[in-house]
Amino acid sequence: MGDNNIIGIHNYCDRWCERCVFTSKCEVYESTSKLSSEQLDSDNAEFWDNLSSNFKQTIDLLKKEAEKRGIDFSEIENYEPSEEEQQNELRKRDFAKKHSVAVLSRKYSKLTLAFTKEDVDLTEKVRELVKQGHLGIKTSEEIGTTTADIGDAFEVVQWYMFFIEVKIQRALSGKFDEAEDPVDFDFPKDSDGSAKIALIAIEKSMAAYAKLHTYFPEQEDVILNALSILQQIKRGVELEFPKAYSFVRPGFDQ
Ligand code: SF4
Repeated sequence: MGDNNIIGIHNYCDRWCERCVFTSKCEVYESTSKLSSEQLDSDNAEFWDNLSSNFKQTIDLLKKEAEKRGIDFSEIENYEPSEEEQQNELRKRDFAKKHSVAVLSRKYSKLTLAFTKEDVDLTEKVRELVKQGHLGIKTSEEIGTTTADIGDAFEVVQWYMFFIEVKIQRALSGKFDEAEDPVDFDFPKDSDGSAKIALIAIEKSMAAYAKLHTYFPEQEDVILNALSILQQIKRGVELEFPKAYSFVRPGFDQ
């Protein structure tokens, strides 16, 4: 890891490296930016070879660390979870998957996927703008700004449409673990950090949808539905994780 990197910054970011100002301080960016396009494509064998090599390196590091601390690593490797632990794992999965905010976030991804893939015709919108340019209704500068604005709002809703659920599920799983194994001192909780980045993604998606509303008034029903679901998810996350907003994310909130 480079000396300049901020430890743990990648744990509570939105993984949108192209738009991140911390690329020069991020360990994940440092390693993933060196990967070839084949290594980044999960349909390519090179992706899985690279993943497998990463796992191997991690295991080697853990073995070394265990040895240093006098821990018998084979006990960890051969560990068989008890019936109770397996049941607990299943209850955790259920809690994270069936929680009302997780259900709502899945509903939201489905709606946004249909909205961006089927409901809206971007090519038609650009044609319409060009026509307005020919008729002198809009200047070329206005057309450029509008096109960029629509493109940006689209990218935002697409980027976060699955991200929100992933982070909410991580926050809920963390909350479950924290309740099962409580610590008796006030430590920043990973679940609050995950909930915070989910809330940030929700707010950015709401702003993007609000922008799209002005450009696609004919899609009002879908857009208002998306905004209403996002608002319900936001409220649900705020209630479940009241300390999320005060979580300090390394780098971003410092
Ligand atoms: S902190 Fe920035 S550079 Fe690092 S993984 Fe997150 S978005 Fe990418």
